Amino acid sequence: MKRQTIALACCFLAAAAYAHAAEPSPQCPQTTSALYARIHSIGLDPQRVYHVRGATIDRPNLHIDFDDGTLAFTEDICGRTTGAFFDGEGEVRLRPPNRAERGSLALFTGMAILEEQFSTGYLRFNDDTAAVLQPFLTPAEDAAEFIKQWNDTSLALAGFDGLRLLLDFSHFLPTSAGNESARNFQPLLHAHLLGKMLGGFEVVWDPANAEPLWAGQPRMKDGNLFFDIWTSFAPAGSAAPPVVDASITNFRIRASVEPPTRLRASTDVNVHILSGGERTLLFELSRYLKVEAIESDGRPVDFIQNPAIEGSELRRKGNDLVAVVFPAPLAPRQELKLHFRYAGDVLSEAGKGLLYVGERGTWYPNFGLSPAQFDIEFHYPQDWTLVATGKPTSRAVGEVGETNADDGTDKVSRWVSERPIPVAGFNLGKYVRAEARAGNVVVEAYGTKGVEKSFPKAQDEVVSPILPSNPRQRLSPIDPVVVSPPPPSPARDAQAVADRAALAITSFSQWFGPYPYDSLALTQMPGLMSQGWPGLVFLSSFAFLSPHEQADLHLGAVAREIDNQVLVHETAHQWWGDLVLWNNYRDQWISEGLANYASLLMLEQQNPVQFRQVLDKYRSDLLSKNNEGEWLRDAGPVTFGQRLDSSHFPNGYDEISYERGTWLFHMLRTMLRDAEAATHSQKGRPHSLSEEPFFRGLRKIRERYAGKSISTQELLRVFEEELPRPLWYENHHKLDWFLKSWIEGTAIPRLEAHEVHFNEKNGVTTVTGVIVQKDAPNDLVTAVPVYAAMPGNTLTFLGEVLADGQETAFHLPAPHAARKILLDPRQTILTKAK
Ligand SMILES: [Zn+2]
Repeated sequence: MKRQTIALACCFLAAAAYAHAAEPSPQCPQTTSALYARIHSIGLDPQRVYHVRGATIDRPNLHIDFDDGTLAFTEDICGRTTGAFFDGEGEVRLRPPNRAERGSLALFTGMAILEEQFSTGYLRFNDDTAAVLQPFLTPAEDAAEFIKQWNDTSLALAGFDGLRLLLDFSHFLPTSAGNESARNFQPLLHAHLLGKMLGGFEVVWDPANAEPLWAGQPRMKDGNLFFDIWTSFAPAGSAAPPVVDASITNFRIRASVEPPTRLRASTDVNVHILSGGERTLLFELSRYLKVEAIESDGRPVDFIQNPAIEGSELRRKGNDLVAVVFPAPLAPRQELKLHFRYAGDVLSEAGKGLLYVGERGTWYPNFGLSPAQFDIEFHYPQDWTLVATGKPTSRAVGEVGETNADDGTDKVSRWVSERPIPVAGFNLGKYVRAEARAGNVVVEAYGTKGVEKSFPKAQDEVVSPILPSNPRQRLSPIDPVVVSPPPPSPARDAQAVADRAALAITSFSQWFGPYPYDSLALTQMPGLMSQGWPGLVFLSSFAFLSPHEQADLHLGAVAREIDNQVLVHETAHQWWGDLVLWNNYRDQWISEGLANYASLLMLEQQNPVQFRQVLDKYRSDLLSKNNEGEWLRDAGPVTFGQRLDSSHFPNGYDEISYERGTWLFHMLRTMLRDAEAATHSQKGRPHSLSEEPFFRGLRKIRERYAGKSISTQELLRVFEEELPRPLWYENHHKLDWFLKSWIEGTAIPRLEAHEVHFNEKNGVTTVTGVIVQKDAPNDLVTAVPVYAAMPGNTLTFLGEVLADGQETAFHLPAPHAARKILLDPRQTILTKAK
């Protein structure tokens, strides 16, 4: 879900008013495949090689200077110039707009503002960039030599924006009426630069993205390829991002699963077009599934299933896209019925009776995150059990959900979503089933008798399996390891799994509001990763293990506890991530932080000491350095989302969005609770969690955002409705200070109380002092609970102080016997340990 949200922003270009409407051209390729081939493999034009001097390309916050050198344009496509290669002396300057983005740029480049000289540059564009450069060009003498030297490089780089440019250039194709269709382009500029200090890197300006300007670099580290995003943002004054113009309202999928590897499917999707004008729509689909045919309203349509890796941004991590080119521009409010037929080897057998479906997030054509209705029918062999999202619906009288196919060889099961859901998934294995209940909700656990071939031997050291767990996460195969007897048995543990999930659903329903579906199925999945889907959890084999089996694996005490939390974490995603979605990559921390904090809340109820141990472990993780001596917290704030995974911090996303994200929700919960207690001291603290303001807010979010996405700002607006007076910063009924200081910041300060004096006047005791925030930015605002130590080693809460910057004076009433001041003794704030 997260990656595609950014990458596919370009699929639905708003029909905004940009210059350069398409003009008919006789040289235009006349078919989709010929046009795509031309865009994808365009070479340099030997007739257009120039000497360039003093040219500049300007975009908001970005300047690219071509001081002196040679430049050749690419050959035209449909009468337009779309690329150029430069060799010489150039300089790029890029200015991020805020501290977080400057910090990110500094982490990767050593510069808070990018100023880098480059020696070569390849530009791809769809606007008037060629005309802008023209006045600075004079004919070059060594044209042939230049072409010979750089044409191959240009050809290789031309492939990077193939599908992005096809979205625009498909408007030059003949329409079903015989004409070309007019179309405005969103101006793209993609520069591949070879920096003198920084090596090869990319800078992109593309207003089709919500964040039009970004820069980044592919980098190998320890044998793994990363794409480091240096910075990404919308410059001040940018137009609003384009509105998503197409949404899928209905899926009807007929799939046949042939273990161990093959899936064959036909999928009908109903697409609703908003304002129209597109010739091309991009769909996500695993590259391992080969599309055989696509029909629109019963008629075949052209499509391109990109065989190569597309270059732009995060999309590079898995370019699983299909471009569907329509015979004419789509009309406003058009309803399309598309039919896809495809097949491929997307499954693999991870162990006896245990399948592993790689790239499963894109096993049907989809885009965006809008919830839709799913009706899915599976055909599969008799000896397997299949569990999918939705409610099993019997085709015939007999077994619920499953019937035998007419020919008697296959099982058939049909699954219909109870409400619109953002994604659909399935899992199959030779399972043993266990069942528990949480009120009216049926909770099922499905485990196989064995574990995957890759499962570690009993004496192996195992890393904690708390790993990304949303359905959109791509999975990576696991290296096989020899199994040592006796193997653990998830089937034996299935009842305990169902019971624990049922317990979590009971608590979460009280805290967050009703569970959204009739049932939850937890199915065993090979590997360390778990994933939550609507009404369905793929649960890592590790999370099925009994305490005894875990002991055999020598999981450390805290790691084991985290491991046990995985099933609760995934259950919490039913509310946070699957029912309430996140808005874009900057908001994904909400889903992970909340699901993880929910699982810790369960732990707090059962074992407060372990709850503290986990929070302390997170704190020490967040205060750690990598092997190069870089602080993890310098990877960036939670709002960087998947960008946090980089060559510097390969697990940065997990560590920061889960661990800092969990701390942020703990801070929010405790400061709302403590500040409310301070204003209603006679009432005292709430007797149950669900009475706390934090949970009142969460239930409002559950109600208002069910089936919708929520942004970080929207989340805070809801909590502001519960905001007690002591948390109003500068008399504003707002949490902007928490957003700026803590959510969009990276600080982990140290808090100290200085100059503390107790004063007695007319029998009333007050205490004054100064709260000092160390190792913190000058504008850090923190809600600090202040306590007094009382005789007998008890603590009395005095009040909540908003510490602002390095020193903040406070003045609070205190009990007569108070003798000492303690700041946040219960460690509710993410600070350095005392
Ligand atoms: Zn998760």
